[in-house]
Amino acid sequence: MHIQDILLATQRPLVSLEFFPPRSPEAVKTLQDTLNQLAPLNPDFVSVTYGAGGGTRELTRGLVAELRQSDVFDPIPHLTCVGHTESQIHSLLEIYAAAGVSNLLALRGDLPVGTASNSGDFQQAADLVRFIRRFNERGLHPDPRGFGIGVACFPEGHPATPNRMLEMDHLKAKIDAGADYLCTQVFFDNHDFHDFRDRCELAGIRAPILAGILPLTTASGMRRMAELAGGTRFPARLLRALQRAGEDAEAFRRIALHHSTEQCLDLLDHEVTGLHFYTLNQATPTLSVLRTLGIHRHPQV
Ligand SMILES: Cc1cc2nc3c(=O)[nH]c(=O)nc-3n(C[C@H](O)[C@H](O)[C@H](O)COP(=O)(O)OP(=O)(O)OC[C@H]3O[C@@H](n4cnc5c(N)ncnc54)[C@H](O)[C@@H]3O)c2cc1C
Repeated sequence: MHIQDILLATQRPLVSLEFFPPRSPEAVKTLQDTLNQLAPLNPDFVSVTYGAGGGTRELTRGLVAELRQSDVFDPIPHLTCVGHTESQIHSLLEIYAAAGVSNLLALRGDLPVGTASNSGDFQQAADLVRFIRRFNERGLHPDPRGFGIGVACFPEGHPATPNRMLEMDHLKAKIDAGADYLCTQVFFDNHDFHDFRDRCELAGIRAPILAGILPLTTASGMRRMAELAGGTRFPARLLRALQRAGEDAEAFRRIALHHSTEQCLDLLDHEVTGLHFYTLNQATPTLSVLRTLGIHRHPQV
């Protein structure tokens, strides 16, 4: 379903889930179990990540095709443009259009480690958004509106642009180029989200913003995410609670999930458009948060 229709039809808040394509038979099995457990939630959509530079191009396409065929989930593929030619992106758009994919998350991506410069045809995500819009305008998608387009945003700021005012100009350029909605990077302090949303409004960015939630469960996962997300900030309140838990892994899990739940409750109080869960292909943490919030959509969950 086109994102504009999802936004109109859904009960607030919209709930979406993110998965990454599995790379081993064990990981395939884990994801299958996770999908089975999460299916009764009836999420508004699920999104599938894409390795920057096309590293998981085939895997992403494969998982998106499977999800489409299952008829249970409505998949939104992530698409990064760094290192890609226009012709490669055009082919992917044709494949997704033919497969009945309604929306894409248009990203720049990061150059693979050790690669000095971007040899592709796209410099920024805004270039990709413009390219998709041209594809849409040529009537190459079965939906006359073409693909719905999401873009990334960073409540804590993107590391490449320390000038936060300039960063908002870059974000607005993505919306002006044709993006329909924003999805945030993971954040753990809602002040960052609220302030970001206010700054969007001041910058004239009116697109709906989905809040990226990562229900953490382990200290190692926390360290990994801090590195991956390019400097995620954990609020002192959470760090203090985790410090009190010491080496107790079960206490860590409870505290971290409590924190995610509190974050969601506060976001709901502030009329967030949607909660986007970074599941890391695990069902239990997301289920646990949604159960406590009472916004699951199926009696068996
Ligand atoms: C929700 C979400 C999902 C993601 N999924 C994936 C994924 O599946 N695969 C993956 O590899 N990565 C993914 N990422 C990470 C993302 O690709 C990186 O963070 C990347 O560094 C930025 O991508 P972007 O689309 O925000 O790029 P852009 O919007 O192009 O911004 C990148 C940087 O360039 C700056 N910039 C933009 N325009 C200009 C300009 N005209 N001049 C100068 N500077 C400019 C911006 O301010 C920013 O600092 C995801 C991130 C988020 C938030």
